[in-house]
Amino acid sequence: MLDLLIKNADVISTAPGAVTVRHGHDIAIQGNRIDAVLPTGQIDAGRAKEVIDASEMIAMPGLINAHCHNAMVLFRGAGEDVSIERWFNEVIWPLESNLTAEDVYWGALLGLAEMIEAGVTTVADHYFFMDEVARAVEQAGTRANLGWAVFSAGVERPENKLRETTEFVERWQGGADGRITTWLAPHSPYTCDEAFLRLSADWARKLNVGIHTHVSETREQVQISLTKTGRTPFEVLRDAGVFEVPTIIAHAAHPTDGDIALMARAGAGVAHCPKTFLKLAAGIAPVLKMREAGIPVGIGSDGVVSNNTLDILEQTRLAAMLQKHENRNAEVLTIADALTMACNDGARVLHLPDLGDLAPGKLADLILIRTDSPHMQPVLNVTANVLYSAQAADVDTVICNGKLLMRGRNLLTLDKRQIIAEVRSRMARLQQRIPGQRLQTYEA
Ligand SMILES: [Zn+2]
Repeated sequence: MLDLLIKNADVISTAPGAVTVRHGHDIAIQGNRIDAVLPTGQIDAGRAKEVIDASEMIAMPGLINAHCHNAMVLFRGAGEDVSIERWFNEVIWPLESNLTAEDVYWGALLGLAEMIEAGVTTVADHYFFMDEVARAVEQAGTRANLGWAVFSAGVERPENKLRETTEFVERWQGGADGRITTWLAPHSPYTCDEAFLRLSADWARKLNVGIHTHVSETREQVQISLTKTGRTPFEVLRDAGVFEVPTIIAHAAHPTDGDIALMARAGAGVAHCPKTFLKLAAGIAPVLKMREAGIPVGIGSDGVVSNNTLDILEQTRLAAMLQKHENRNAEVLTIADALTMACNDGARVLHLPDLGDLAPGKLADLILIRTDSPHMQPVLNVTANVLYSAQAADVDTVICNGKLLMRGRNLLTLDKRQIIAEVRSRMARLQQRIPGQRLQTYEA
């Protein structure tokens, strides 16, 4: 007996270097895995407990958000038209200093609801109060790599804070039926000193986990690192031993050729967040060079205060168009490359090899996208329509770990009205400025 049969879809497979479309195929799901993908008619629908008719729909792997600060949805719209320094010092850090664990829980649920509605089934989330985020992920039914962000700059006994995050790693590793993986998340080389980064790497090795961190977001960060230490931020991480464990490098907007070689040798993965770069005028990452070096580059949304949505399809589209524009070459970063980044490469960045493709044996994380609206017609090129024409609202059905999370645009695990009401009720307190409050300051 099969648990679920999806009938008559156009199926996009995003195996590396081989994006294919199979028209009129069925997908059989058994437990949390894909059992078979075969032409319609070859699998007996009578064998399935539940059947979904996916005529006029495209099936593809669930999208992977490789870098996010999910609960920052609470601050959507708060930091517009400001420099990166003002963005941190005048907007983000005052707001974040008011956050409570419960705020983060409701913020995470809001973000997860938005991500499910946009077809995102996995997120690498880097934030605070991560026990609450884990609870939210458990409830939403999605998959997540969770890292509790820590700093050493301006923090008394930061090693104690780090130790608390290692306890979180152990508490939630493999949680929510295996949907949660946990890594360490020292914030960045500009907010963590080298000794702290070394301690983080030592802990990661001991716990057999990776490190998720921000690197070389702006040219100024690289310049200041060179002036202070004689090394690029990547070289500082290398010397601290960070590249001896798996890494998610968020941004990597300004790596040198040496940094790219270093990442390639180390097997590091990059989370590329093009909308954040554009809004904060931070410069565009050399995605083509990094991909040519064999580095997996996934797509991240970053937090919505610099991005405004968690729509990974939108970010993937921007990633493709920006590389074409930057390289003055319309033939680079093809549709196949872009869709691979959003699925398979994202899975490689997160070290989740059972994700990122629709093939027998893979985990059953997939989405169905409707093609019956005017902006999706005609369907001459399935993958072009997905990358360049589809809207998040075209995602009809979302399945993660073999379970339905959304069907016909109805969320099945989350109560959207309750979440929105809870979030709204917290806004006045979160926006209060508390006199004399000690805040983190941003210095590249
Ligand atoms: Zn970030």
